[in-house]
Amino acid sequence: MSNSFLLISIVAFVALSVVSLFKNIPGSYWQKWEFLKLRTLKVNRFVIERIGTSSKIDHAIKGSRKLIPIGYVFVISLCLYLFFKHVFRLLPFGIKHSYFHQVLISASIASIYFITIVVVLLNPGVIKKHNVSRVNSYFRNNNLIFFNDKVCSTCNMIKPARSKHCSVCDHCVMLFDHHCLWLDKCIGYYNYKWFLAYLFSNIEFLSYGAYLCYQAIVNQWPNGRKWSWSIIIDSTLDKTSRTLFLLAVIYTVITIVFTSFHIRYLYLGVTTNECEKWSDIEYLVGRGLLYEVLDNQADEKFVEQCISRNTEDNSYETVYISLKDERILFDQSTELPLRKIVSVTDELDNIYDKGFINNAKERIFITDLG
Ligand SMILES: [Zn+2]
Ligand SMILES: [Zn+2]
Repeated sequence: MSNSFLLISIVAFVALSVVSLFKNIPGSYWQKWEFLKLRTLKVNRFVIERIGTSSKIDHAIKGSRKLIPIGYVFVISLCLYLFFKHVFRLLPFGIKHSYFHQVLISASIASIYFITIVVVLLNPGVIKKHNVSRVNSYFRNNNLIFFNDKVCSTCNMIKPARSKHCSVCDHCVMLFDHHCLWLDKCIGYYNYKWFLAYLFSNIEFLSYGAYLCYQAIVNQWPNGRKWSWSIIIDSTLDKTSRTLFLLAVIYTVITIVFTSFHIRYLYLGVTTNECEKWSDIEYLVGRGLLYEVLDNQADEKFVEQCISRNTEDNSYETVYISLKDERILFDQSTELPLRKIVSVTDELDNIYDKGFINNAKERIFITDLG
């Protein structure tokens, strides 16, 4: 009974992981692998449409979202219960009675629960009336993906640079990264470092769990038998150790993929949210539609070239619109000096990138902004 429940949990959580993984892959991440990019974006769009356009499903997800972190903690607890009930006794004598492994097992369990609770309970950096002006002066706008005096229409407050309104939680969050499905929590300025600790503690917990289950399986083998994946379906061996081993291996791989995205974001000096915005900029540059206004007096430094249709005589003209609010700023008759941007990496500067070490330091040693 417990094994079939575990199998159902595995299928459900693997499906959920795949959905959240695709939802978290920004297009720009795949720019070097065009083939993969097209395939991924297709799947990505499919997933978003399937979830995002159906208000019934959307409503059901919003209503039951609290169940995801609770379910996650429940599955972890169930796996631990099954591990100690069935697998621990099958471990080789040297591991079972090793002081080192006893301490490591206790520390791994304690850290996974402790860090999960900290990330869930910590304020991600919600922007409220009392801290909005401080946050606004702390983060600089770059007039490319973040703009001065932008207002959040839901909170009715200034939207500081690098912040975003989370539609799931219904508040603006400073240095917004993403809304984590697993934890049902915004990840932002205050809890990002704990989110990284959460990912690393999961990798340690899962890979160490896989190692222990592997040792339990090896300990049951007849002498001289070689390792092969067919062992997973060998019914003469303990079922729980094989199931937990498979679960731990799958989740170790998924968590390493997630974590590698975040290490890359730290290297690039972006958040998950900003990566999405940069991929929009890359799209414009790729189509030759982004222009720099070479006039110091201009309000907006970058504009997007568009074609506008005159409904009266059905004529077309080239116009330049604001990246901030898509307002038409001027047309081609205005003789403003413009320069077409042809390369994101060579011509556009990410002012938030201060090098990998400094980016990481910035996320760990944070200033209290209220
Ligand atoms: Zn808001
Ligand atoms: Zn949120």
